[in-house]
Amino acid sequence: MIDISKLSDKEVDEKIWEIKEELKEDLFIPVHHYQRDEIVQFADYTGDSLELSRVSAGTGAKFIVFCGVYFMAEIARTLASDDKYVFIPNRSAGCPLADFAFGEDVEYVWEILQDIHPGGYIPITYANSLADVKAFCGRNEGLVCTSSNVQKIFKWILDREKRVFFMPDKNLGMNTASDLGMENDYCIVDRYNQDDLNIKERRIVIWNGFCIVHKVFTLDHVDFWRKKDKEIKIIVHPECDPEVLKASDYSGSTSRIKTMIEQAPENSKWVIGTEYNLVNRLRMNNEDKFIEPLSKSVCVNMSKNTRRDLLAALTSIQDRDYSRQVVLAQDVTRDARKAIEKMLEIS
Ligand code: SF4
Repeated sequence: MIDISKLSDKEVDEKIWEIKEELKEDLFIPVHHYQRDEIVQFADYTGDSLELSRVSAGTGAKFIVFCGVYFMAEIARTLASDDKYVFIPNRSAGCPLADFAFGEDVEYVWEILQDIHPGGYIPITYANSLADVKAFCGRNEGLVCTSSNVQKIFKWILDREKRVFFMPDKNLGMNTASDLGMENDYCIVDRYNQDDLNIKERRIVIWNGFCIVHKVFTLDHVDFWRKKDKEIKIIVHPECDPEVLKASDYSGSTSRIKTMIEQAPENSKWVIGTEYNLVNRLRMNNEDKFIEPLSKSVCVNMSKNTRRDLLAALTSIQDRDYSRQVVLAQDVTRDARKAIEKMLEIS
């Protein structure tokens, strides 16, 4: 057994390449855009959480080492067949946004909503949520959404004369309501706040959670760049506060931001409001453009996965020690998968 703490960074990297070479197509390493560069270099695929999970499930690899945060590895576990093993390099890499909504709290509010409009709501959870919240949606004819398809899914529900119960990101919910011209038709709830909100009248009920990484961006940051250079275009993620979104030129999912920057004309100037590791990588890969972060905001949880954690996960696979794998209860997997599959059907 190797003592990873005694290896230099270079030796750790060499060892990872060696194990990748040894396991060949039995191993697949999906890496989220927000991961550190020291992890990205080993990626078999980089992308958004759901895209990565779908690609992983479609490979023949027996071992999936998902480099992202825990809810992403849970999605990969949900979609992968039972003969695959899913690992995450650092199991403490959680997501504070997902942790705003636990299954039991969501069930509690759901009961209250059922009393107000029995059978009147369809629950939707953002992909950035815990597996038991996805399973709750699956059990209640609900579904999952991403920041790319959230608007379409809200519309799909509203077109059926149903009301939306959306979790857990308040900003994504409010920004979507606003895009649909329903700024005055939502309320924000959580386990401890459902009174005096006029819930009965609102067609959209939004959970009170937020992403701390995107919450950091303010109007002052937007003003700073506007004053600095009038040619700069500002693009932000829809997990940002609504006033920041309104003051920006564009908004979009991580994939949309990446595509827009890559396709932008030479010498164009961009300021981006999303996780810093992605912004920095876009800057390095698009040297013909001016690219700056709206402000430097790093997801510390995404950054928890280090090259040493990755090597530890890979050596445990080599040693046939699967105790670090991500495991979900069978009923959670079944119901969460139902919610994801319903999203795929619609979008
Ligand atoms: S950037 Fe926000 S939503 Fe994404 S993992 Fe970090 S805390 Fe969670």
